Amino acid sequence: MASYQTLNPYSGQVVRSVELMDAAAVEQRLAAAEAAFPAWSARSLEERGAVLRKVAAGLRARRDDIQRSMTAEMGKLRGEALAEIEKCAAGCEYYADHAADYLAPQSIATEAQRSYVVYQPIGCVLAVMPWNFPIWQVFRFLAPALMAGNVALLKHASNVPDCADLIAAVLADAGVPAGVFGVLHIDNDQAAEVLRDRRVKAVTLTGSERAGRSIAANAGDQLKKCVMELGGSDAFVVLEDADLDVAVAAAVKSRFDNAGQTCIAAKRFVLVESIADAFVQRFAVAAQARAYGDPQDEATTLAPMARADLRDELHRQVRQSIDKGARVLLGCEPLAGTAAGYPASILDHVVPGMPAYAEEMFGPVAAILRVKDEAEAVRVANDTTYGLGGSVWTRDAARGEKVAAQLQCGAAFVNAVVKSDARLPFGGTKRSGFGRELAEHGIHEFMNIKTIYIA
Ligand code: NAP
Repeated sequence: MASYQTLNPYSGQVVRSVELMDAAAVEQRLAAAEAAFPAWSARSLEERGAVLRKVAAGLRARRDDIQRSMTAEMGKLRGEALAEIEKCAAGCEYYADHAADYLAPQSIATEAQRSYVVYQPIGCVLAVMPWNFPIWQVFRFLAPALMAGNVALLKHASNVPDCADLIAAVLADAGVPAGVFGVLHIDNDQAAEVLRDRRVKAVTLTGSERAGRSIAANAGDQLKKCVMELGGSDAFVVLEDADLDVAVAAAVKSRFDNAGQTCIAAKRFVLVESIADAFVQRFAVAAQARAYGDPQDEATTLAPMARADLRDELHRQVRQSIDKGARVLLGCEPLAGTAAGYPASILDHVVPGMPAYAEEMFGPVAAILRVKDEAEAVRVANDTTYGLGGSVWTRDAARGEKVAAQLQCGAAFVNAVVKSDARLPFGGTKRSGFGRELAEHGIHEFMNIKTIYIA
């Protein structure tokens, strides 16, 4: 079978040589998933919840191993990786605590003697996941899926195979029965085959628009349910009455954490004219303080990008935007002598027609869009094919709420950085995708919402 190597994006050295699974190995996992479903779904919620709590404990116990793999495979800062692992553990506990409420039958009064809704699991769900939050993206889907009684197969991004295997090991050690969760080291053509298999009932993707088009088309062809968590180009709207100290600190965090490779990172900074210069000046000073270095080193505050090809693509977008008139305020050149380093960068005077205006910039580059007033800010914030998140910054919370209501996205935050939270539904509009993860909405996505009617 074909094989490939993964590279450490900081050192440039080989992390692992991965052999793609052959058809027999894939068949074994499909068969195991189907065989595991009846017993797993028949377990009580308490029993499944107890297993999920053990998974949470296992994640915490192995956090140093998992962190090292995340950092080696995709360059995540040690501190960010540890926080991500803790978020996964808490997510497992959250669904162990709340699934019974979310899945309780719901009575609906009709002329029948009794009519109600029950939530039933559907079987095996294929999860196609990205590398940028290599543990959290998986658990965001997996914790509710397992509590729901489903089983899952994971096709992880090709650059994070160790993260995938570590997740499987934690689950197995926690007592998740064989077949309930399986890892597939396969390529995208093989994943399309798996999705066609009758034993796979649905698919969830977190990834790019490009992958979304392909997987959603295949799911449509097979008439299988899909959830699409795709790219974003979130607006960060700063109004003239914003507290600039608070807004600038949030802007730096949102744009440069995880080397800017976050779907809900603020990517377009929409600044009202009267405060634009003041904001930009402070933003540049604070961004410049982000120090590139070894992601394993606690002193590093800017991680490498995950792969050299991703850095090259980001730089193409930057160069084309500069060619079309954007002004470099900070950075905007790859860090010489590094495998995949790119500095904290700011492009000012970004306008329509530039990649920095229209495309998702998946790395540490902020685009500054200057506008006249609040009305223009809302128009520009919505002038995108994406619709994942957005935030607005103002001292007037009521005004912020009104602006938030007008943002065309799945999550609009006022005076706070957009983030995912197990208690709140998460997902996109427009080309950022459809369907929801997390909260009550997320656990219902891959369930049969079944009506029972007794005349
Ligand atoms: P990606 O290239 O789309 O990869 C995501 C997953 O899809 C990987 O497992 C990848 O496998 C697979 N894939 C890629 N092309 C495919 C195709 N044509 N058919 C089937 N599968 C395919 O995305 P990425 O670079 O890993 O992640 C960055 C993107 O994800 C950004 O756009 C980001 O905004 C988005 N994202 C969205 C969310 C959200 O919640 N909405 C969260 C995180 C990230 P291989 O690695 O083997 O190619």
